[in-house]
Amino acid sequence: MILYVILLSPVVGYLLYRWGGQWLRARKRKQRAVLMSAPFPQAWRQVLADDFPLYRKLPVDLQRKLEGHINVFLQEKVFVGCSGFSITDEVRVLIAAQACLLILNTGVEYFPGFETILVYPQTYVANVTERDGALHSESVSARAGESWHRGPVIVAWDQVIQGARDGRDGHNVVMHEFAHKLDEENNRMDGLPILADRSQYQDWATVLSREYERLCQHHDDVIDSYGATSAAEFFAVVTEAFFEKPVQLKHKHPELYQQFQRYYRLDPVLWE
Ligand SMILES: [Zn+2]
Repeated sequence: MILYVILLSPVVGYLLYRWGGQWLRARKRKQRAVLMSAPFPQAWRQVLADDFPLYRKLPVDLQRKLEGHINVFLQEKVFVGCSGFSITDEVRVLIAAQACLLILNTGVEYFPGFETILVYPQTYVANVTERDGALHSESVSARAGESWHRGPVIVAWDQVIQGARDGRDGHNVVMHEFAHKLDEENNRMDGLPILADRSQYQDWATVLSREYERLCQHHDDVIDSYGATSAAEFFAVVTEAFFEKPVQLKHKHPELYQQFQRYYRLDPVLWE
């Protein structure tokens, strides 16, 4: 009898583990479905209407969908104020809205692999340690935001609000940092996020590497030159331009626009 139990226990354990996992995923899907259609507080809608012009531009069906995503996002992510900053509903809703715009139509997860968003009141100073062989240097660097691999997103509130209120300058710190989160979903932050189907990868690689090389060689008035830092920064910077300067991006870089249109399953030119 004891031998029987010992032989069976790994099998039972495995089955319990699998069923448990399935049960948890089903419960999460159900909770999310409820939150997607839960009422959205009028005060929150007012925050979006006042401070997020991109929200005002969205067709009504996408506005409602974004509100549902915000409900889910706020349930699943944790906000922490730093340097005495206090987290209000305005802070939570405005950060959630800009992040969720990226996943508005993709049907993917809510930026898995991390849950904490740290918010500083203003652009903050970070100590940077760099090692190059035996050389070890330390410096301080002013930051509007950053995204840690499998760790928190950190943003400065003055930059968040400025990014939200100006929907046409091509700068949005929340979209930038959460684009990095999409990029790292396959465990590598390299400018290549998970694409919907295998046939997309070849075109993505061809178009993005060509456009990245071009930005490294020449100044561009639509894509910020910070995008030439690395392929990962290129993806984040083009994401900002895709949502905030869609007409210019489509006009000047039609193939790049098309790749991002396919990836995000959105066509922001139509909202102009
Ligand atoms: Zn970046």
